[in-house]
Amino acid sequence: MAVKTFAVTPGFSVGGAIFTSKQLALIGSVIGDEAKVEMTTFKQLYVTIEEDRIPDVQLQLEEVDLEIHQAGFVSKSLITCNFCKGAVEAGLDVAKALDLAIANHEVPSPLKIGYAGCALGTSEPLLKDIAVVKMRDSFDLYVGGEAKGLKPSFAKLLVSNLQKEQLIPITMKLINIFQTNGKKKEKFSKFVDRMTLEELRASV
Ligand code: SF4
Repeated sequence: MAVKTFAVTPGFSVGGAIFTSKQLALIGSVIGDEAKVEMTTFKQLYVTIEEDRIPDVQLQLEEVDLEIHQAGFVSKSLITCNFCKGAVEAGLDVAKALDLAIANHEVPSPLKIGYAGCALGTSEPLLKDIAVVKMRDSFDLYVGGEAKGLKPSFAKLLVSNLQKEQLIPITMKLINIFQTNGKKKEKFSKFVDRMTLEELRASV
């Protein structure tokens, strides 16, 4: 029997990405004894089960407000901080809208997009491929962070002082540029180096 992997998240709110006990219990009960569950570094659970059971299992998971995402070479759901400064000050609504827009687009290599509600950046935004950091009344956008390997690198500032209305269009533009110009399996950090910051800045 063929198996396939999909991703599950509880979404996020003030407090972070938190599964309820009901959600966890349901995951355990519906996926079956043969399922494999992996905790990824990007706040998604990867669930691997028999392919023909996926539609029914996903339906049941969605009924307890779990979110289903694609696994593999796609843009991941937004990796956020815990919004400890509160929903308004940390920009929870902006982050939720951004998450809806950016997740699950096919890309040359898995794309991790981070969000921090203030410059303390406790969600480690500068280690993500693309990162949004809320400053006082505006947002800064960084690109090209790389946490893996023995030579990790910090994302570099692409644009500062963005207004909230600009965030989704500019992030989607970056995803589109990567879709069009990225080489198969090319890491986004390498792509940024190849394209250069200046060219990307001019393109968005
Ligand atoms: S990034 Fe700022 S708002 Fe978000 S959890 Fe950390 S300290 Fe709180």
